[in-house]
Amino acid sequence: MNFKSLIRDVPDFPKEGVIFKDITLLLQNPKALKETANALYKLLEGQKIDKVVGMESRGFIFGPILAKKLNAGFVPVRKPGKLPSKTLSETYDLEYGTDTLEIHIDGIEKGDRVLIHDDVLATGGTAKATCRLIEKLGGEIVQLNFLIELTFLEGGSKINNYPVKSLVKY
Ligand code: IMP
Repeated sequence: MNFKSLIRDVPDFPKEGVIFKDITLLLQNPKALKETANALYKLLEGQKIDKVVGMESRGFIFGPILAKKLNAGFVPVRKPGKLPSKTLSETYDLEYGTDTLEIHIDGIEKGDRVLIHDDVLATGGTAKATCRLIEKLGGEIVQLNFLIELTFLEGGSKINNYPVKSLVKY
């Protein structure tokens, strides 16, 4: 399937100068939804996974679908103040300022084999912070997989000590 034909460029969203990759056309197409999930699953090549970790908010779309296919659990990584129980936080640098992500401390057990999933790998800040959260809780990162990788932003270089796979590259 030609996934790129269902990924729409939206100029100047969410702010001027950004070209946003919009996956809603792909999500609303029944065949594309199924084939995307199957293709992301195939990137694992049969490896055993205990937990799929997805980042707010578009990591919550295919993350749980993958978890179900893998017979794994799903663990959300969220923006500050959203998770109700005891959390671990990680703050990372943006172009201007910082951002923080949180995970429940009981979301990952020592030795858990973890797949990290998000829709887009851009600068890699989100993915790297998520890796740190999982490692601090004793999880083993088996793979990071993305629907889209914006290779010109070189986010992969921030997480090049892990296996990184993506379905579509720009
Ligand atoms: P990074 O931390 O710069 O790699 O940004 C990745 C995060 O921003 C992911 O959680 C994405 O959902 C989101 N993101 C960045 N660029 C886009 C885009 O063009 N379309 C959709 N989401 C994006």
